[in-house]
Amino acid sequence: MTAKSDDASPEQALVTLVTGARRGIGRVIALRLARCGPVTLNDIAEGKDELEGVAEEVRGIGGRALVAPGDVTEADQVAAVVKQSVEEFGRLDVLVNNAGITRDGLLVRMTEEQWRSVLEVNLTGAFLCSRSAAKVMLRQRSGCIINMASVVGLMGNAGQANYSASKAGLIGLTKSMARELAPRGITVNAIAPGFIASPMTDKLGEQARDKLSSLIPLGRLGTAEDVADAVAFLASDAASYITGQVLKVDGGMHM
Ligand code: NAP
Repeated sequence: MTAKSDDASPEQALVTLVTGARRGIGRVIALRLARCGPVTLNDIAEGKDELEGVAEEVRGIGGRALVAPGDVTEADQVAAVVKQSVEEFGRLDVLVNNAGITRDGLLVRMTEEQWRSVLEVNLTGAFLCSRSAAKVMLRQRSGCIINMASVVGLMGNAGQANYSASKAGLIGLTKSMARELAPRGITVNAIAPGFIASPMTDKLGEQARDKLSSLIPLGRLGTAEDVADAVAFLASDAASYITGQVLKVDGGMHM
């Protein structure tokens, strides 16, 4: 499948849509995949200026970028983002469901709003984006969906019942979509990062970060580049026989 090749030549370029791309891991994934072809950059509308900044960075390395703000929890906005992307670049090869939020709290104190908002963005958002993208990929008879899960979706985490449940759900969604879409040549995989240095983990204090590092066999927090390299692998031809899998990028934290 030439469209999955890691090669920026026009006939082989990979067209990618990354959600939550204005900062953190999503931004780095977008810059990494921009080396393989055009990227559509999505994030919530409030992040449009930062998205424009990422688009400039993509152009700075000789890539092509489209800025397409929209809330992944709103079906009509998601459909518009996918439509814009296909109109601009003619196809859609890779969807990276990266947008995610945390609203941490202990179970007995967790509000319904904390619970519902995290499930809504992390799980329903990925469902809506996948549903829209899959319609395009089914017609193409090729494509690749990569869901950003988390090791806490596999191991659980005190204070993150909502987040862990959303990421465990995302893994179930990944496996079901993988089975359903495989006959049309579409792969669906999840990446489960451990603790990655990013705005999300910057919220933790230095002491908490040091304690976490001591639990990681490789002895350090991961980087967004570690995650982006795994995404690039799953999006490439080298991973064309891999589907329904969860690739942990966690320094050996969960094994
Ligand atoms: P981040 O810096 O908070 O970036 C996530 C981006 O998604 C933000 O720009 C966020 O905007 C955006 N977003 C939130 N709700 C959205 C919506 N409804 N529609 C569109 N975009 C939305 O997080 P990150 O650390 O880079 O994490 C990226 C992904 O990796 C997430 O799915 C996260 O769960 C996962 N992950 C991260 C780690 C880690 O250690 N950092 C570990 C495991 C998994 P707002 O800022 O306005 O919310």
